[in-house]
Amino acid sequence: MMTRVSTLVALVALVAPLAGQSRTDAEITTKIRQEENAHSKIMHTLHVLTDVYGPRVTGSPSLKAAGEWAITEMTSWGFSNGRLEPWDFGHPGWVNERLTAHIVAPVKDALVAEVLAWTPGTNGVVAAPAYQLSLPERPTPAELTAFLDSAKDQVKGRIVLAGKHVFVPVNFEPPAKRRPDDQVRQQYDPNNPNAGQFGRGRGGRGDQPPPPMTASEINRRVDEFLVANGARLRVNDAGREHGQIIAFNNRTYDLAKAVPTVVLRNEDYGRISRILADGTRVELEFDIVNKEYPEGRTAYNAIAEIPGSDKKDEVVMLGGHLDSWHSATGATDNAIGCATMMEAARILKAIGVTPRRTIRVALWSGEEEGILGSQAYVKEHFGSFEQQKPEYATLVAYLNIDSGTGRARGASVFGPPSAAAIIRDALAPFADLGVVGASATTSRNVGGTDSTAFNNAGLAGIGFGQDPIEYNTHTHHTNLDTYERVVEDDVRASAIEIAATLYQLAMREEMLPRLPATQMPPLPKPSTAQ
Ligand SMILES: [Zn+2]
Repeated sequence: MMTRVSTLVALVALVAPLAGQSRTDAEITTKIRQEENAHSKIMHTLHVLTDVYGPRVTGSPSLKAAGEWAITEMTSWGFSNGRLEPWDFGHPGWVNERLTAHIVAPVKDALVAEVLAWTPGTNGVVAAPAYQLSLPERPTPAELTAFLDSAKDQVKGRIVLAGKHVFVPVNFEPPAKRRPDDQVRQQYDPNNPNAGQFGRGRGGRGDQPPPPMTASEINRRVDEFLVANGARLRVNDAGREHGQIIAFNNRTYDLAKAVPTVVLRNEDYGRISRILADGTRVELEFDIVNKEYPEGRTAYNAIAEIPGSDKKDEVVMLGGHLDSWHSATGATDNAIGCATMMEAARILKAIGVTPRRTIRVALWSGEEEGILGSQAYVKEHFGSFEQQKPEYATLVAYLNIDSGTGRARGASVFGPPSAAAIIRDALAPFADLGVVGASATTSRNVGGTDSTAFNNAGLAGIGFGQDPIEYNTHTHHTNLDTYERVVEDDVRASAIEIAATLYQLAMREEMLPRLPATQMPPLPKPSTAQ
């Protein structure tokens, strides 16, 4: 191809804004952009994954159905080898089917709540007086025991507000929706010795020493206490502004170990707390239907491929997690990541690329419960640097996106700086879309998202960093995480950038360079944090 019209190549090279890009690559770049801008399917994919199949809790029938639909859809685009790959989740599936929440005395009004996952339903309507269990701050185990003992006779037959009302001040300095260019450039600058600081949590606890008991330990003790002493229902304060609710799960995954539990929006929790503080009796009413699915102990990752040609035994993977939390339809976390990766692969198929290497899309489950599905897949297929299976040698890289709707601004690549340089070159033609480059990481810690399951094994996980838009402030894990919060222009930009990166990785002569064995960091100790 390069020699076909050498004079034209020379001309194009002279006028091309980006040195180093061959004419073939420039043609592909143009075609990728045209395909996405003229025939994008990304919002349709998002619509079906969220509106039709959301929420998609791990182990639930709707997550499995979403995976089956995605495979059918990719097959209709010409992909091959679509399959659900099972792994052992070890917990039953769980679904919330109905929730009504009301205050019935001294006033009548509807309340805004979400149930906690893997808690039981109410088995009919429960109406009971409210009781506020004003838990001590930062208790030691002995202090908590003494406090709970003193409240033993108060909770029987009651709906218990677990904890004091959280004061959420009005925020006068809302964070920016896009990251400033210079900051993103610093983060993905290969020559910046401090590049690694980005993405680490800044701020946080400050100078305060860690509390004597963790929040999850206190939660577990309170759950045991409420079950043992006959409380009807537990109510937690969402503790966020503007009616946002984040509802995670009963961490034991055992419905017998918790009473029916909801997370109430901060405004309703505050209202009830203030009326109780007046000395007025408050009566609440809930109706919750939750369902368990024993077959959910087996969960599934959804896989489909575009087979390679002369290097078909080598594989470039890309994906995101298909599972979500249950209080919304999981649009920004992470149906849009799945739709973006499906779209990136679809673009290459649609413009007639025959990849040299096999392209494999993977939509994970169990991410929200601890990056479980991707870790199970990596273990099954690749093993780890320390215990390599035959497929270990065949994986070029795994590309992942999982930080909401914001466009990809850069990539973090597990491996040597030369690997990051290749990704940087692949992204270079898309500076107009806001992407600035790629930097290398050698962290093998599992955490955050599925690319770290690959990093942990010593494989080239590639994680895209994105503009925040409303992710951390509004949608991440909240009841507001819906289709409406996705910015089409941004997610199309990400799909274009990732399609071009995927093309380079599938076509280039060499695989992505790996860390030499002598430079592979030791495996970190497994973390027990969720
Ligand atoms: Zn996520």
